[in-house]
Amino acid sequence: MDDSKRKAQILVVEDEASIRGGLCDVLVYHGWQPTAVESGEEGLELGLRELFDLVILDLMLPGLSGLDVCRKLRTRLPSLPILMLTAKGSEDDVVRGLRCGADDYVTKPFSVRELVARVEAQLRRSSQADDNERFEFGPWEIDAPGLNAHSSNQTIHLSQREVDLLRVFGQQAGRVVSRRTLLQQVWGLINVDEIETRTVDVHIAKLRKKLDVTGTRTIETVRGAGYRATV
Ligand code: CA
Repeated sequence: MDDSKRKAQILVVEDEASIRGGLCDVLVYHGWQPTAVESGEEGLELGLRELFDLVILDLMLPGLSGLDVCRKLRTRLPSLPILMLTAKGSEDDVVRGLRCGADDYVTKPFSVRELVARVEAQLRRSSQADDNERFEFGPWEIDAPGLNAHSSNQTIHLSQREVDLLRVFGQQAGRVVSRRTLLQQVWGLINVDEIETRTVDVHIAKLRKKLDVTGTRTIETVRGAGYRATV
């Protein structure tokens, strides 16, 4: 367990006492420091007042909903990682959550393993500032500071924005990423309108054209939802 992990402060907003307690136990067990509240109002107030490394936010809350809390936190704190808890099988909830600015989601009932993996991914993302950052994306090895991608027999140049896009797809590990999420995480835009989502389409189209020269399809469009890495 490293220092950065031990210090991470996590705000848990969940109205069901048993789930709230269970979440806190898991977080403590893995070396994080949870602070739990049971209402959206408290979550919003505390989230804006104190510095958290991550918020785990239940979508279904009485009073101020998880979506409202998410939207309001996101407006004020664009880089705060927000992990949404949604009901199993509710694709609508997931899409709405991501549209409101959630970075990721876990469906209930969740496995401890999945939850921990998603928490770790979000904490890693927020502490990313690595001068030697390299990551794989399908047949490509991405050299982030060098803005290059290398495959077995070629090297292509990428823009900073393209590297940022690939990083998000890599972190989402095959999940659908909404255009809104991409606009927030890659462009740093909040409160985006529909027209701006075209920007994402244009960039993805260019990026695909570059990457897919190896013959491997890398990113697919998921109608009405966004994009997903297929590698
Ligand atoms: Ca709930």
